[in-house]
Amino acid sequence: MLSDNVMTQHVTFLSGNAATVPSSISSSLGTLGMSFVSPVQRVNGSREYGFKTPLPKLSFMFWLAIRNRLATGDRLLKWNGDAYGGCVLCQTEVETRDHLFFSCSYSSHDWSALTRDMLGSRYTTRWDSLVDLSTSSALTQIHMFVFRYVFQLTTHSLWKERNGRRHGESPIPAPSLAKMIDKNMRNRLSTLATSGSPIYKSGLRYWFSTHCR
Ligand SMILES: [Zn+2]
Repeated sequence: MLSDNVMTQHVTFLSGNAATVPSSISSSLGTLGMSFVSPVQRVNGSREYGFKTPLPKLSFMFWLAIRNRLATGDRLLKWNGDAYGGCVLCQTEVETRDHLFFSCSYSSHDWSALTRDMLGSRYTTRWDSLVDLSTSSALTQIHMFVFRYVFQLTTHSLWKERNGRRHGESPIPAPSLAKMIDKNMRNRLSTLATSGSPIYKSGLRYWFSTHCR
């Protein structure tokens, strides 16, 4: 597990071809068995991806997704031609990052259920567009906080479901997973709201206002 002092740290990552991994994260990589990521990596042509998050484990997985470093089917095939590269969620497409998040019929169902009302005209299933939105000034602070939270949580939950299926676990129907993510959002935002921070309380109200079903 990552240490508690990471929990509220302002984490700044770089997307695209570059990344600066905070020392507190990099020191935890050994625990996570992720030694393939060096503590500091810098490549030109990058765009800053910064966020405050109380979920460092999600952030690290999310950071791998942003850098397209997850072991998705297309990458597994490059490493081993005998590997299964198909998407285990829809079983119709090659599994790429952009397919999993959130072009896949399974993923797009959940992403729509969780964010269509919240994002309105900005709603999209395109990964790059969502990363752009999460680094833009298009949303208010509260809306951005909640959006980044659900963006990370949904990505992480879909990745977990994908890994479970690849290891033979029983599949969770898309509507059920969406309900689980919604419940998780409510629980975590409620917990954060008890900290007394106005943004967390507003975030919780905002989530309820767009998910009142
Ligand atoms: Zn799929």
